[in-house]
This record gives sequence, structure tokens and C-alpha cells, in this order.
Amino acid sequence: MNKLLMKSAAEMADMLRNGEITSVELTQACLDRIAEIDGKVHAFLHVDAQGALATAAEVDKVRAAGEELHPLAGVPIAVKDNIVTRGVPTTAGSKILEGWKPPYDATVVEKIKAAKLPIVGKTNLDEFAMGSSTEHSAYGPSKNPWDTERIPGGSGGGSAAAVGSFMVPLALGTDTGGSIRQPAAVTGTVGAKPTYGAVSRYGAIAMASSLDQIGPVTRTVEDAILLQDLLSGNDVHDSTSLAEKVEVLSALEVAESSKPLAGMKVGLVKELGGEGYETGVVENFNKAVDKLRDLGAEIVEISCPTFEYALWAYYLIMPAEVSSNLARFDGMRYGIRVEPKEGPVTAETVMAATRAAGFGPEVKRRIILGTHVLSAGNFDAFYGAALRVRTLVQRDLDAAFSKVDVFVSPSTPGVAFKFGEKMNDPLAMYLNDVTTIPANLAGTPALSLPSGLSEGLPTGIQIVAPAQEDARMYRVGLALEKALGLELPQDCPAKEWEK
Ligand code: GLN
Repeated sequence: MNKLLMKSAAEMADMLRNGEITSVELTQACLDRIAEIDGKVHAFLHVDAQGALATAAEVDKVRAAGEELHPLAGVPIAVKDNIVTRGVPTTAGSKILEGWKPPYDATVVEKIKAAKLPIVGKTNLDEFAMGSSTEHSAYGPSKNPWDTERIPGGSGGGSAAAVGSFMVPLALGTDTGGSIRQPAAVTGTVGAKPTYGAVSRYGAIAMASSLDQIGPVTRTVEDAILLQDLLSGNDVHDSTSLAEKVEVLSALEVAESSKPLAGMKVGLVKELGGEGYETGVVENFNKAVDKLRDLGAEIVEISCPTFEYALWAYYLIMPAEVSSNLARFDGMRYGIRVEPKEGPVTAETVMAATRAAGFGPEVKRRIILGTHVLSAGNFDAFYGAALRVRTLVQRDLDAAFSKVDVFVSPSTPGVAFKFGEKMNDPLAMYLNDVTTIPANLAGTPALSLPSGLSEGLPTGIQIVAPAQEDARMYRVGLALEKALGLELPQDCPAKEWEK
């Protein structure tokens, strides 16, 4: 493998700036790597070599002319396939959108194009981002670069696998209940869910709009900071976008000190640990907490009693929103159109036949569940109750943040599981999200970074900060990453893979 690909995006950007490499060389190296190993990983649903190389050539030209460029200009990136890209296929991992070419770019894609990062392709995901393994993708699962018999996490397993196996240094993910952080944890990469509203959702194919958030997938915390900075800011196309840009670059100004976290209180949440967490995950987590203490942080035990109900509240609120958001896939406006085998061809029968053929079992399960919890007789008992739990979770988090500056937990209860292990047991699959969901319910930022290896498989630690305190979360992440000194992706067996 071309060693250049093991560098971080920030290092690649420096080399581009210094004229050591060109963006065309770098982009071609990524494309070659994809051609070489994606048959094994299946991280990509679509590769846009021509588009990526055209952007790269343009960056090189502009740079040669001495014009000012964005710091990440010329660094290749991949985009999760539930984020729309004009003229480039976007499927959301579903058959129902097969062959669809969006007529517009998501705001984040516009920003990436304006900053001139070559977009090498679109990454695989569980259908409409519903799942924790990519096994629900209509196009087959992605593989974990640490062990191809294991899941790369989900829904954003394609982005995490692409970054983890050195096909690309940067990728975009979406996180509704953990789809950026859980794949990061099980692939030894870094993933961040920004504060809700910090990054525009315009052009992200909606799953559950009150929970969805676009964010960075990278190999280092520094790269996540740089990418979030590029993506964020107010957007008139997204009414939930925050008026003020959430500033993160200040996290990079770390003073040289042996105790950079002095004066900071870091919470350990009682309810995000204990039974159900694998020993290796807990051991690595405890070691990371010791490091935080070494860095000067005061470790404080806290309790968030309602977290126990957060998962169940999520699995009522999310399907309710899914059932409404996915009503737009009707065989008329986007993607495939299937006519009924028999009987009259009416709007209703075409809609039914298209949705029956186009949606997979997990999507159907959630639409049915969501329709059920929103129906007149059930609304208050299920959806209403879940909304009340959501408020209680938010209050628990507010109370926690009156005692601590950030809190930490394992990013996932276990390491990457084997394909098939949880496919016949939706509840077991849902339990993967127990640690990640509170941050989505409350809209707070949350970051996952590697905490070590357990029997050769990566584990992750999650850092959660109050809303709009993304910079604080990143500051803790940077200090911890440095103190752990793991450089985990560098140990990934995928680096040995050749064609
Ligand atoms: N695993 C979660 C789910 O299936 C996460 C989804 C997401 O964040 N997009 O709902």
C-alpha cells in the first residue's frame, strides 16, 4: 500500500500546501486503493473517479496560481450514501432509490465542493440508516477491516470501513442513534456527532429528523475538528440549524502542559456500564479513565437514572418519525416504480407495490411500528410517553452537566460482532445503541475515539459534552488521544492487504 494513505488528513493537507504531493497524486492513490481492496471490504456503493480527479486537478491548478485555498483543499473524502450528491447516484442503501440521481447537493456537499475536497464516492449503509451492522443494506454488508467476518458497525459502516482501511482519510456519516460513533468504535476510527443543529441536515435523507445529525468520520481527533469546522454553520435551508456557528477550532490550541485537563470534572455515568458490557471494553475504558486522571481531570461518579429508559424511548420516537419521513417514497417522485401484478393500476396500488418491493424488512418493521405508535388509540400511551421520557433524559443530562464538564462511557457495550449473530433478533441489534442514544435524545455533541484492542479488535470511548460545547468535547478527546498514544488505525491488518 502507498504509505501516504496512512497519514492523517491534516498531514496530507500540509504536504499538499508544501508542494510535496499534488491532489491528483493523492486522489489517484485513494482510487487505486479502492480498486485494490474494496472487493474485500465493500465500503463503497459508488465510486466517482472522474469527478474526484477533476476536482483534484482544479485544486492543483488553483494552488499553482497561488490563490488562497481552504486548509483541507485537495484532501479526498467519501460521503455516506444517504447524503444527496447532484448527478451522482444516491440510494440510502435501499432498492427503492436504485438508480436515482439527485437534482441537488446537500448543504454539506456544497461546502465540501466549495472547499475543493475531491469526493471519491458514496459509502454503504444500513437501509435508510436503520441498523448497527450494514447487514440491512439492500446492496450487501461492508466488512470490518480488522476481521472481515465481522460487522463494521452501522449504519455508517461503509464510511468507517473506508477510513479504517486507508481508502480515504475523511468521510461523512449521519448519526440518529449512534451511526457515526458505533462504527467508529468497532473499526478503531474516530467519529463525532456534533451538537444538533450545528451542521445543516439539508440534503441528508431524513430518518428521524429530531435526532439526525451529519458529522465527521476520521482517523484522528484533529481531523474530526477540521472537518466539523468545514461542515458547520447556519443554513437557511434547515430550520433547525443554529443561528451561530458552533466554534471548534479553538480545541486545537492546546497549551503544552502535562496536565491539560486540570480543573476539569469528568463524569462516569453509573447507568452506562456494569452488566452487559464486555470485559475487554471495560478494561480499556478504565485505562482511558486513568489517563484522564493523569491529565489532571477530576473523575466524578454521577447517575442518570432515566438513561435506563432512553433506548426504549428512542425506539418509539425514531420509528414514529421514520413512518412519516418515508411516506415520500411512493413510486411517483423518486427511484423505482413497480406496478401491481394484477388488478387496477391506481396511485394506491402502485404505491403499495413499489413500497413492498423497494423497502427491506427492517424498514418495513419500523414503518409499521411507527404507524402503530402514532395511531389515535396508542398515541398517548406510546409516542406521548416516549416524548416525556425524552424530556426526563434531557433533564438528567442538564443535572449531570451542572456537576461535570463532560462525561465519558464506553462507546459500545462490545467489540464488533460476527455477521448473522444479531440479524434474527432485532432487540439484540437495538441494544448496541444503549450508550449512544442519550446524546441524540438531548441533542448534545458526542465523540468516539479508540480506547484500545480487546483480543485484536478495537474498542472505543465516548466523550459527551453539553450542547454547543463541541470544542470542549474535542479538547478532552485530543488530550486523551495523545496520552493513550494508540495510533490504532496504524495497527489495522488491512494495511497489509494487496489485491
Ligand atoms: N443503530 C441505530 C438504529 O438502528 C442507529 C441509527 C442511526 O444512527 N442512523 O436506529
